[in-house]
Amino acid sequence: MANDPKTHYPPLVGVLAIQGDFEAHLKVLKKIGVDAIEVRTGPELDRITHLIIPGGESTTIRKVAVEDGYWEKLARFKGPVMGTCMGSILMASKIECPNGDGWGMLDITVRRNAYGRQIHSFTANGKVEFSENPFEMVFIRAPKIIRIAENVHPIAWLNNEITGVVCGNKMALTFHPELSGDDGFHRKLVGMG
Ligand code: GLN
Repeated sequence: MANDPKTHYPPLVGVLAIQGDFEAHLKVLKKIGVDAIEVRTGPELDRITHLIIPGGESTTIRKVAVEDGYWEKLARFKGPVMGTCMGSILMASKIECPNGDGWGMLDITVRRNAYGRQIHSFTANGKVEFSENPFEMVFIRAPKIIRIAENVHPIAWLNNEITGVVCGNKMALTFHPELSGDDGFHRKLVGMG
C-alpha cells in the first residue's frame, strides 16, 4: 500500500517543498544518508514513506496545496510525519490566531506567532528526551503548543514550555531542528514506522 513504510525499505523521505526552508531539511537527510525527494504533487506523496512539513507561512502553503489538489492527501498521510514550526501548526487539531482547524494528526492546540511581534526570532537552549545535552532551538515567528491531549507525549521543552510532542508516528516541533546542527530529530523520524 502506498505510504506504508513496512512495504518500502529503505525509507524515502518527502519534504514538502512549496515554500520555506525545505532545503535545510534535505541537507540534514543527505548528511545522515537517507534518500529524500521534494514533494510538490499528489503522486509524489504516494512514493514516499516519511514526510516532513517544514517551516514557512501556513496560509500560503494551504492556498497552494488546495489549488494544486493535494491538501486532503497531505492531511491523510499515514506514514511517519515530522512538522517543524509551521508544520506543527498544520498537524494540530486546533489552531489559534486566527482560530481554525488543522489536520488533526495530533490532538493538540497550537497558537500561531505566539512569541509576539517584538520577538521575531530567537535561539535558545532547550531540553530533548533523547539527550542529556542542551539542544539548540531556533524559533522563527514560532507557534506555541498550548494544549496536549493525554495520548500526546512531550519530547522537547524550553524552560517549562513544551516545544515538541509525539503521538504514534506523528511528531510536531515548534522550532527548527534543521537549523541547529543536531540531526537527532531527523534520525528519530526515520526510525519511526
Ligand atoms: N508564523 C508562521 C505561521 O504561522 C510559522 C513560522 C515558521 O514556520 N517559521 O504560519
